[in-house]
Amino acid sequence: MNSPGTPTQDLVRLTAAQLAQVMIAKDVSAVEVVQAHLGRIDGVDEALHAFLARNDEGALATAREVDAARARGEELSPLAGVPIAVKDVACTAGLVTTAGSRILQGWIPPYDATVVRRLREARMPILGKTNMDEFAMGSSTEHSAYGPTRNPWDTSRIPGGSGGGSAAALAGFEAPLAIGSDTGGSIRQPAAVTGTVGTKPTYGGVSRYGIIALASSLDQIGPCARTVLDTALLHEVIGGYDALDSTCLDAPVPPVVAAARQADVRGMRVGILRELAGEGYQPGVQQRFDEAVTLLQAAGAQIVDVSCPHVSYAVAAYYLILPSEASSNLARYDAMRYGLRVRPAGVAAPSAEQVMAATRDAGFGDEVKRRVILGTYALSSGYYDAYYGQALKVRTLIAQDFAAAFEQVDVLISPTSPITAFGIGEKIDDPLAMYLLDLATIPANLAGIPGLSVPIGLAPEDGLPVGLQILAPAMADERLYTVGAAIERDLQHVWGGSLLDRIPDVSMPAAFLPDLRTTSKESA
Ligand code: GLN
Repeated sequence: MNSPGTPTQDLVRLTAAQLAQVMIAKDVSAVEVVQAHLGRIDGVDEALHAFLARNDEGALATAREVDAARARGEELSPLAGVPIAVKDVACTAGLVTTAGSRILQGWIPPYDATVVRRLREARMPILGKTNMDEFAMGSSTEHSAYGPTRNPWDTSRIPGGSGGGSAAALAGFEAPLAIGSDTGGSIRQPAAVTGTVGTKPTYGGVSRYGIIALASSLDQIGPCARTVLDTALLHEVIGGYDALDSTCLDAPVPPVVAAARQADVRGMRVGILRELAGEGYQPGVQQRFDEAVTLLQAAGAQIVDVSCPHVSYAVAAYYLILPSEASSNLARYDAMRYGLRVRPAGVAAPSAEQVMAATRDAGFGDEVKRRVILGTYALSSGYYDAYYGQALKVRTLIAQDFAAAFEQVDVLISPTSPITAFGIGEKIDDPLAMYLLDLATIPANLAGIPGLSVPIGLAPEDGLPVGLQILAPAMADERLYTVGAAIERDLQHVWGGSLLDRIPDVSMPAAFLPDLRTTSKESA
């Protein structure tokens, strides 16, 4: 593997840590690494549709800079030259950014999000922008205005959402690393259903500057990868204080890489969250979860049963708080300043309001409209206290429950998603069923605490990946990596290798796949 001329096929299967190593050893150049990934995208993305925009020239230019700097003997950042895919929710100067919405079709931001600036400073080639549910609303990536992304494990199924593009790019070996955003689970749930790893850091742990806002008190940017160590390496590149985001924590990035390398759970108290255990899970999800618990116990962790009673109300509170904040954040798409502008048909001299209405009608999909209406209603005077005010109180109770739980245990665990990847089109007409998929991930966003999803095997009934979620107290993100890396290491022994070696070959011509771009009805 380390010999010169590593075949392209092998390069895309290396982890970010391995890629960094072979480049430092000068076995391969950064340009070769980028070319290998661009070639892979050429081969499979017609089938997967993980990318909305590609940045071939930009990625190659960064790679050339890395090779030149390395040749001059300059000291480079640990991930220099390692390519990355960025969720289309992050502004990229000069590169089209849409948040999966028609209202931003073709929009080119004049500036970089802080997270993107940090990737550039670390000289990581940006391969392109990944598909997502419109404005990050969804759990399947079917709400993208540009058509769904497919799951590399089974291309008739969803890759999770809203960050399905980033997760599919990883599982499809199109990129070793990706950026995601998590407002209610959009990093963790896609990781779970694609057999990859993803972290929602502590709220404020990564800057939100230049991220297209969904719900500002819940939104968190985070790292996605195929291994726990890679996720930690990326976490350290993007994390840390940023004066441009007033909610950013002024504290050092938790020592996540050291934790991932150490992976020692001996003596750790691991709580099983009673409200997120047992009922409602697919049998294979529950089975793999129980096995992972046994594994942790064998590795020296102490397993404790913990209750957070108000967690049961998290989904209800979230679907008042999120639409309220989203309806307010999305008011900026007014057809006046940037983005789409539609003139209403048959009106000779339309008013600003008429243009706004026509633009928002044409530019937003069904799910976005649903949430704008919900949020506007919840915030209206007369209903504010009954809905939004109550939801905020529940949010406080959930945060207090977690604080009490973390007096007893170091981390909490649960399955990440109650079910494995479902079929494209299966739940698109049932918003409530879709909302319930996030019952295990939403509580962390409400409480501001960090969470990580790590693969724990395939469900026996359908052969699809299952994820385990780890939660830790705010600013103790390193604990996620300690536990995640221990599970990953011990499961590798059980499986005799990496889970991802079992992904079926997706390099199938798109012509053989059904056209799914019409499944999300008029919103597609
Ligand atoms: N699926 C959740 C929602 O639809 C989470 C979204 C997210 O984390 N961005 O709101």
